[in-house]
Amino acid sequence: MQFDIITIFPKMFDSYFNESILARAQKNNLIKINIHDLRKYTVDKHKTVDDTPYGGGVGMVFKIKPIYNALVKIIGKNKLKCFKKKRIKNQELRIKNNSKNKTKVILLSAKGKKFDQAMAKKFSKLDRIVLICGRYEGVDERVSEYLADEEISIGEYILTGGEIPSMIIIDSVSRLVEGVVGKKESILDESFSKKGYLEYPHYTKPEIFLPNKKTSWRVPEVLLSGDHKKIEEWREEHSN
Ligand code: SAM
Repeated sequence: MQFDIITIFPKMFDSYFNESILARAQKNNLIKINIHDLRKYTVDKHKTVDDTPYGGGVGMVFKIKPIYNALVKIIGKNKLKCFKKKRIKNQELRIKNNSKNKTKVILLSAKGKKFDQAMAKKFSKLDRIVLICGRYEGVDERVSEYLADEEISIGEYILTGGEIPSMIIIDSVSRLVEGVVGKKESILDESFSKKGYLEYPHYTKPEIFLPNKKTSWRVPEVLLSGDHKKIEEWREEHSN
């Protein structure tokens, strides 16, 4: 599974992707993460990625040209939405993503489709995901119209850029790629593994925690009983 991120802040990803499970997954060649500096795909000496919006208004907008150049270089022209077309009896039909072409170009955008676990599961079956991180006022709408397969939002709030949303998508998709999370069972039963499901609560040592002399916070008795049937029932009762 390969991820390609297009960003004007490539260094932002260094720390997160080089720690823990995602670092190990890359080392074991289960996932590959490539980070592309959008400015490398500009053509002017100032490496301009943005310009003022047509129609006026505050803020700057990412230009389509550097993003187009980056996508052509990274995945090739034929994989872009606008060129995934075939003429059949003078009609233009879009070829749906098939098994030979499991690449998706995603534009991160607050007005996109809301990301959830079901989507993460679907994405984990792909071969390659390209993520375009917007900044400022956003991205020229033609990127969404002609280049990106999907526009994805991670929630109903505004962030300064698409970098954190990209990390979130890569993190949640990667852990569903076989072998990334050590124990398969860990991902089978967790929250959202079924629609609306929320996992039962977890406790660990000590049995009794004493924040002060008058207070004790105890682990539910049943979890200490060793009675697997009862524990199972308690867990079922305490999950949604
Ligand atoms: N003017 C835009 C609007 O009102 O929807 C917000 C632009 S935001 C400041 C800059 C960039 O951050 C966006 O282009 C997008 O890539 C990213 N972004 C912000 N919030 C996001 C969210 N909830 N989900 C995904 N991406 C987001």
